[in-house]
Amino acid sequence: MKTSIATVSISGELPDKLEAIARAGFDGVEIFENDFLAFDGSPADVGKMVRDHGLEITLFQPFRDFEGMPASHRQRTFDRAERKFDVMQELGTDLVLVCSNVSPVALAGLDRAAADFHELGERAARRGLRVGYEALAWGRHIHDHRDAWEIVRRCDHPNIGLILDSFHTLSRKIDINSIRSIPKDKIFIVQLADAPLIDMDLLYWSRHFRNMPGEGDLPVAAFTTAVAETGYDGYFSLEIFNDQFRGGSPRAIAADGHRSLIYLGDQVRRAPNVETLTVSEMPNRATVKGVGFVEFSADEKDAADLTGILRTLGFRRTAAHRSKKASIFEQGDIRLIVNTDEQGFANTSFAVHGTSAYAVALLVEDAQQAFARAVALGAEPFSQPVAAGEVVIPAIRGVGGGLIYLLDDNSDLGRYSEIDFVAVQDDEAVVPSHLVRVDHIAQTVAYDEMLTWLLFYTSIFETHKTPMVDIIDPAGVVRSQVVENVSGSLRITLNGAENRRTLAGHFIAEKFGSSVQHLAFQTDDIFATAEALRANGFCPLQISPNYYDDVEARFGLEPALTERLKAENILYDSDAEGDYFQLYSKTYGEGFFFEIVQRRQYNGYGAPNAIFRIAALKKLMRPDGVPKS
Ligand code: MG
Ligand code: MG
Repeated sequence: MKTSIATVSISGELPDKLEAIARAGFDGVEIFENDFLAFDGSPADVGKMVRDHGLEITLFQPFRDFEGMPASHRQRTFDRAERKFDVMQELGTDLVLVCSNVSPVALAGLDRAAADFHELGERAARRGLRVGYEALAWGRHIHDHRDAWEIVRRCDHPNIGLILDSFHTLSRKIDINSIRSIPKDKIFIVQLADAPLIDMDLLYWSRHFRNMPGEGDLPVAAFTTAVAETGYDGYFSLEIFNDQFRGGSPRAIAADGHRSLIYLGDQVRRAPNVETLTVSEMPNRATVKGVGFVEFSADEKDAADLTGILRTLGFRRTAAHRSKKASIFEQGDIRLIVNTDEQGFANTSFAVHGTSAYAVALLVEDAQQAFARAVALGAEPFSQPVAAGEVVIPAIRGVGGGLIYLLDDNSDLGRYSEIDFVAVQDDEAVVPSHLVRVDHIAQTVAYDEMLTWLLFYTSIFETHKTPMVDIIDPAGVVRSQVVENVSGSLRITLNGAENRRTLAGHFIAEKFGSSVQHLAFQTDDIFATAEALRANGFCPLQISPNYYDDVEARFGLEPALTERLKAENILYDSDAEGDYFQLYSKTYGEGFFFEIVQRRQYNGYGAPNAIFRIAALKKLMRPDGVPKS
């Protein structure tokens, strides 16, 4: 699978774009005419710059409003084409994209269009060039790849072929089976884009909301599989128009794009009738069985506060690291590590972000396989020296530069807590609070990073994403989207903050980047947990009494239950499957907090309660948004 991306897909000046595209690992690049017009060098200079980066120019585009022009416009149209051919020869590319005519003067008729293309094919052949025809979803007469293919077929010229674009086909819900009967040599190139499902004008949707395959909701993998089933094994080229990407970092967007194609190739090669797609094999998406541990980096002073909170939550210190200043706190299947070591990455992370949950260990079937897949998908491997005899846990960099460790039960990795740590007796009197496992990890990220991390998690791990939800913060909107697996053993909520006055935005600004903002633990009995927490001196987040009047009316709860919820500051929600109870801690540091949940067949995350929780958390903060100590 040869990978390419259109220059229009990413931000920056042409040289920055090319540098980012090459660095991300693409084989080729589509040169968009506007990028080239805005650049001061000649077409030959652009061609040289592309080749100096080790890239190939996959095509030059677009050439608009060509086929079916009336006699009064026809000659000028062919003159324009010859000018494009001149530029292509100087650039050093042999393929031009002609998109279907949108001009109001264009005439209909497949044979008329085929005749125009035949003449264009003759002109292109004289120069050794090729022309690819693409049906725009909003073309005046041609807006379906089946009609574009019929024109190419009738034109019957070796220098004229078809360009398929997933957006144009899928946005109009055109049957992708129609692709399977197109001869592979007549498909000159395949362009790929995904998009979120939004009901709007096709042109506007395409120009502003396209995103990388796997980031949106269109069946791009099924489309690409249909293409690969023809035997086509040429370039797959991303053509993404997205306002957010145009303002984003060229390197990050290019890296996401490359990851999306590698992931797509891996999905398509597994389809039963795909025989010729050249992609390297990689292990399956990793099945996550649970959260192995969450590690906090802190200094001694913060660690004392944090440890105090953990004890009020019913955690006991069970083990001390043999060579580092780090301890394990445990309850049920939950392990939290508090690391105050002055060496190593934990300390570096503390220096930048302050106290934070900087590392999460995921328990997978096979850690080395999961690591290999992550690296194949462009994840950054992480390692640091360990003391002799200690376990080297495979790790990759995750959100905000934090770490994702990969553990399994098949090797020494499953015994890291015995090998690297020594068991200790906790003398503090702590009442266990019935917490059984990590329910979800909530990561707060800048809004423009959300798609990056959704693609990261869903491509590496066996997970799916749920639809985006808007959380209303009194100071703005926070977008929330969940990555989870079917069993619920991995649940990550990603919250994207657009402004720093929201609780999430404040957290990012003060933490100098994206990070875990809350950790939710599961209990099987929220009231028993609340009672134990009280005995430990835990201070729950105080919820407004008005909330309980509303919740009683909304869900028709028994007054006795509402009274108990109110007495313990427990929030309630229910869906078609079951119900959900939530109890929050106060904020710690710059807005970090803990949550305790009980699920009874309920699969959501209590989104309707977020506004009340945020309002209560904000009351704890000074007017400037800084937590009161
Ligand atoms: Mg296109
Ligand atoms: Mg939560």
